[in-house]
Amino acid sequence: MKVVKFGGSSLATGEQFDKVVNIIAADPERQVIVTSAPGKRSQGDAKVTDLLIHYAQQIQQHQDATTTAVQITARYQEISAFFDLPPETMVLISHKLGALATTPFADADHLMAAFKAHGELLNAILLAAVLTHQGIPAKFMDPKDAGFLVGGEPNNADVLPATYLNLSHVSLTGPRIIFPGFFGYSPSGDIYTFTRGGSDITGAILSRGFKADLYENFTDVDAIYTVDPRIVAHPAVISKMSYREMRELSYAGFSVFQDEAIIPAVQGQVPVNVKNTNNPTAPGTLIVPEQFLFNPANPITGIACSARFSALYLHRYLLNKEVGFTLKLLEIFQRYGISYEHMPSGIDDLTIIFDQSKLDAPTINALCHEIRQTLKPDYLEWIDDYAIIMVVGEGIAHTVDTMGRVIDSLTQHDIAIQMINQGASRISIMIGTQRKDAAAAVRHIYDTFFVKSEV
Ligand code: ASP
Repeated sequence: MKVVKFGGSSLATGEQFDKVVNIIAADPERQVIVTSAPGKRSQGDAKVTDLLIHYAQQIQQHQDATTTAVQITARYQEISAFFDLPPETMVLISHKLGALATTPFADADHLMAAFKAHGELLNAILLAAVLTHQGIPAKFMDPKDAGFLVGGEPNNADVLPATYLNLSHVSLTGPRIIFPGFFGYSPSGDIYTFTRGGSDITGAILSRGFKADLYENFTDVDAIYTVDPRIVAHPAVISKMSYREMRELSYAGFSVFQDEAIIPAVQGQVPVNVKNTNNPTAPGTLIVPEQFLFNPANPITGIACSARFSALYLHRYLLNKEVGFTLKLLEIFQRYGISYEHMPSGIDDLTIIFDQSKLDAPTINALCHEIRQTLKPDYLEWIDDYAIIMVVGEGIAHTVDTMGRVIDSLTQHDIAIQMINQGASRISIMIGTQRKDAAAAVRHIYDTFFVKSEV
């Protein structure tokens, strides 16, 4: 049995729905289908989720929301008209959208979550109707009826462990199950949504809960590429990768999934297949547990690069002999509520790397001031100009020359390496460079491992 999730661009128009219907019909194993809300139809178009957020804000501020409600209804209407559906489904969808405006909610956060969730909820109702109309028996399943329970905050939910037990009791025989992504219910019965892009999480949770053989995630790219196509034109695709390779790559900028979105699938040991709705026969990228993978032909699976980092460099003579230095430093971070990303260290030196999107200038100044006062380093420097390149591959752990080849490819082109660290996982090499060098560094590493190895 497969759980299949379709992203917003795959469910944005009648034409796209038609492709989705064909994909579902082509494989009887595709038993559980997870919907996103209709996404953008073209550049500049609005996603239904964004329209719903606007709708929620207007209702909260007691503004006239008629135009927004009409715009949202029109998105579903367009798809319904494409298939010439009998009117009941659109009557139901319009009714549910209208009813939202007059439903009382505990507070603004609960209201926002419920409005947002309707993008996927209404799309699941619509897809079930379209499939049935096309002769493929399908039924909408409300997450409430499946016991899909979440905790956390209304707009930042976490799945509750009871969900998995509840899902194991759901009968999967009979019509295909169409399940809305992105949200669940709190134990008190309120709608809570995951973070944006959270339909992927729903698919992963259902894969684990239903013990699926495969989680197919349909999006609008043929596969995950070995490197960002904006840096290297027409890069090689990754046909197979391990979960932890995926996680290390998405950490440093790969953006097909939020890496955390597939954690439930990892926990359930369910392989994930990223595929393209617009080219469904392409094999896509298969993401599997580590033990299924080793490709000795190329130790590297992918190269990612991110400029979202800053570093704090500290130098203090005899740092290695000083007991408690790092502890005091970490206590300062804790007081400021700051988490660090990496901390490579030497005899007298320590570099701490931060995700700069989580820091602002006043915090950085206060932090540096306190470190100077408390720890009295001989030298302290805040480095804003920092990029991190992650060279990732299960094969790294099994080869002896990969690190050397990576370094050679950079030194041959006069690219200065500010930091290099073979990751604790043993499947990644992390390189810090100046931002201006990052794209060229990625290209040279790519050429070394992917172009030269093919000749
Ligand atoms: N529709 C939601 C969003 O736009 C969730 C998703 O598409 O996965 O964030």
